[in-house]
Amino acid sequence: MSVRPELYEELILDHYRQPRNRGTLPQADGQAEGYNPLCGDQVRVFVKLSGDVIEKVAFEGAGCAISTASASLMTEAVQGKTVAETRALFERFHHLVTQGAHGVPLVALGKLAAFSNVSRYPARVKCATLAWHALDAALRDSERARRSV
Ligand code: ZN
Repeated sequence: MSVRPELYEELILDHYRQPRNRGTLPQADGQAEGYNPLCGDQVRVFVKLSGDVIEKVAFEGAGCAISTASASLMTEAVQGKTVAETRALFERFHHLVTQGAHGVPLVALGKLAAFSNVSRYPARVKCATLAWHALDAALRDSERARRSV
C-alpha cells in the first residue's frame, strides 16, 4: 500500500472538475495575468471592489489540476474580505504550501487547508500560488486605476 501523501485531495479534484467563478468580469476594477512556465499554467484574475472589500473575483485560463483548483478555491475564500484580510490570507496560504502545515492555524485557512501537502512537492508550489500572485497584481492594478481617477 502506498503511503505517499495525497496531493490530490477530493476537494481539489472537485474544484478542478467544476471550477467556481470561472469567466471574465466585464466591470472589473483590476485584472492581471499570471503564467507559470514550469508547468504551463496560465491564469487571468479579475477583481471587483466595493470600497475596500472584494465584492467579486473571477478567473479564466488553463492549467493543471492544482493551479485550477487553487484559483477556484481562492475566489471563494476572498469574496467579502477586505484587501488587507486577503493579503494576510495569501501570506498564510503561501506559508502553508512552502513550509507545510506546521505553525499555520489551519482553521484560519478553511478549505485552503486542502493544499497542505503541496509543500512536499516543491515543483507544484508555483501552480498553487499562481492565481494568488495574479490576484495581488490585480489589486495593485485597481489601486493604480483608482489613483488616476
Ligand atoms: Zn501547474
